[in-house]
Amino acid sequence: MNSICFPDGTRVPVLGQGTWNMAEKAARRAEEIAALREGVALGLTLIDTAEMYADGESERLVGEALRGLREQVFLVSKAYPQHASRDRLAPACEASLRRLGTDRLDLYLLHWRGRVPLSETVEAMENLVAAGKIRRWGVSNLDAADMRELRAAGGMACATNQILYNLTRRGPEYDLLPWLADEGIPVMAYSPVEQGRLLDNRVLREVAARLGATPAQVALAWVLRQPQVMAIPKAGRVEHVRENRRAADLPLTASDLAELDAGFPPPQEPTPLEML
Ligand code: NAP
Repeated sequence: MNSICFPDGTRVPVLGQGTWNMAEKAARRAEEIAALREGVALGLTLIDTAEMYADGESERLVGEALRGLREQVFLVSKAYPQHASRDRLAPACEASLRRLGTDRLDLYLLHWRGRVPLSETVEAMENLVAAGKIRRWGVSNLDAADMRELRAAGGMACATNQILYNLTRRGPEYDLLPWLADEGIPVMAYSPVEQGRLLDNRVLREVAARLGATPAQVALAWVLRQPQVMAIPKAGRVEHVRENRRAADLPLTASDLAELDAGFPPPQEPTPLEML
């Protein structure tokens, strides 16, 4: 599978696995764990979770799913904004590590911007790197102006910005994606199939039918069409994981992309970053 390169040279696969809404229903737990493990076996070794998801239960589920697999995986978790302070980030990180059953995160993200000054969050993140609790840090849901402020606040080591980006959410193409590309910061696209709402779209279905692919595969291949953008679809079903894996090998031609542009027009003006 293609990979993207973080600023420190570490490579991760372009396609990973999300975990929001996992661990919400006991009856689904076994299949969600099986889906994550199947994904790792298929090379989807980038796994994204957060202390927020299912109030910590998603991290516990990920920890269970990764038993015996931890060394193969690039593990990402996220801290609530109110925990991203000098005093609170380290205990929040410890709690995440405990729930995940691991001794370090490969990447730790500020989930969204809150009231804690960015300079303080940067300092708290760097302290966790120095302590060996996290390998690197990044942010999520920060728009272009926030990213510039982060840089000015000393956040030169920011490894990624995890943002809402899919065919129906193309706003970041106007200014945020070009800025991140110029700065060499890779993008992690979340909700890449718009939580499933995108998959009935007529244009998407037509392109998929012509390619002998599924709408989810085309939506994912579209996100992955550009360098330095990865996608983290959440799939709690093994068959969805297998289907999504094949998206990483689906080429889209210029005419496929033009058809998708006609159905999902790119932004013509600055658009505030949306979040789910
Ligand atoms: P998503 O990945 O766009 O969509 C997930 C939904 O799509 C699930 O209902 C899943 O069903 C379904 N699905 C997945 N693959 C499919 C396929 N091949 N065919 C049909 N349906 C399919 O939405 P998301 O979960 O919001 O986003 C992905 C991840 O990004 C999250 O899980 C989370 O890790 C992260 N995220 C981060 C933020 C943030 O603020 N940083 C916000 C939202 C999400 P099944 O589960 O039944 O397979």
